[in-house]
Amino acid sequence: MEPSKAIYDVVIIGGGLAGLSAAIHLRKHEFEVMLIEKNEYPKHKVCGEYISNEVLPYLDFLGVDVFHLGAKNITKFELSSSKNTLVKSILPMGGFGISRYTLDNSLFKKAKELGVVVVQDVVTNVEFSNDSFEIETKLNQRANSKIVIGAYGKRSSLDVKLNRNFIKNKSPYLAVKTHVKGQFPEDLVALHNFEGGYCGVSKVEDDRINLCYITDLEAFKNFKDLEEFQQKVIFKNLFLKSIFESTNPVFETPLTISQISFDSKSPIEKHILMCGDSAGMIHPLCGNGMSMAIRSAQIASDLIIDYLHMKIASRELLEKSYKTAWNNAFSSRLKIGHVVASVFRNNRLADMSIGILKTIPSLIPAIIKRTHGRPMLVK
Ligand SMILES: Cc1cc2nc3c(=O)[nH]c(=O)nc-3n(C[C@H](O)[C@H](O)[C@H](O)COP(=O)(O)OP(=O)(O)OC[C@H]3O[C@@H](n4cnc5c(N)ncnc54)[C@H](O)[C@@H]3O)c2cc1C
Repeated sequence: MEPSKAIYDVVIIGGGLAGLSAAIHLRKHEFEVMLIEKNEYPKHKVCGEYISNEVLPYLDFLGVDVFHLGAKNITKFELSSSKNTLVKSILPMGGFGISRYTLDNSLFKKAKELGVVVVQDVVTNVEFSNDSFEIETKLNQRANSKIVIGAYGKRSSLDVKLNRNFIKNKSPYLAVKTHVKGQFPEDLVALHNFEGGYCGVSKVEDDRINLCYITDLEAFKNFKDLEEFQQKVIFKNLFLKSIFESTNPVFETPLTISQISFDSKSPIEKHILMCGDSAGMIHPLCGNGMSMAIRSAQIASDLIIDYLHMKIASRELLEKSYKTAWNNAFSSRLKIGHVVASVFRNNRLADMSIGILKTIPSLIPAIIKRTHGRPMLVK
């Protein structure tokens, strides 16, 4: 980071999908943008890696062609209960499968190519005074900016520093992801339930199959390791047993994360515009978190451009407009996502619901539509 007191137009904390999308968008409008990311690119992330097609027009504007990177076009959906009842549906808008390793890295390269200043460090504090920000990092670097975007994901020590409410609550989930190779249809995303969780299965580039499951930490604690948990709990779902047993792992060991919570957050915190999971996280069961991250970056960037061009008269108005736009875009899908997730958290209810969906399969695309957005058109 520069030792000088240069003021960036925008500093972005976190270079996942939200941060990188905003960085490219703002740089395309010739603003001076710094992005601070704690990890090196490329990197695998725990994620189901199925993205709704709603992001395609915007990714095109950002300059990323996912199918050129090997993404798989996904049009079909399957859902099974822990008792092995299977329902099938088409996906109303469809989506694609691509690894975060490839997608985030391609956005990172685009951002660098356009002149975004990318710094590898951890942001430890943000102070706002005299209408500007000072950002501090773990390596004792400092930067100043007119705007800060918080795009640092679902949970960070920065949330503690900013004294955000949700950080005080427990986060009771564990998620595991691996890539395997074997037979699986390219155009299908499947969600197979097991007692205490579910596992998503879909293909990504390079003929890999993503297996990503999320479970209650409590359910997992009774077993000595992942292997035992898989054998004794996950394999009771025979679709999962067959997929796990007929494929070969690509990763030496699966990636795991805990501390996942879906509590509501505020899209503005101490004048920082929060994007992606930092602003609010939809349950992964809905397969819409990545689209929401990218869409929130688009909304924030459009408003920041207007503010920096003085088409929005004050910071207060910028923050109010972002909050309203964020709520309009996401409140309803978050609410429906919460309902869907609580039904699926209860095994009996989940089995019953899947039974109902088997009788009335047309309900599936209707529910999916309500947890997804429309194609992201570009201004
Ligand atoms: C188990 C699981 C499965 C999922 N499956 C899907 C799916 O199939 N489809 C879908 O659409 N969504 C899915 N999601 C949701 C999706 O992964 C997220 O919504 C998405 O990654 C959010 O992007 P983001 O940019 O907000 O955050 P992230 O991608 O998490 O990026 C945040 C970045 O900030 C960096 N960072 C954090 N703290 C700091 C700091 N203090 N300083 C600097 N950098 C920092 C991190 O290193 C990280 O790179 C899933 C989520 C989980 C947990």
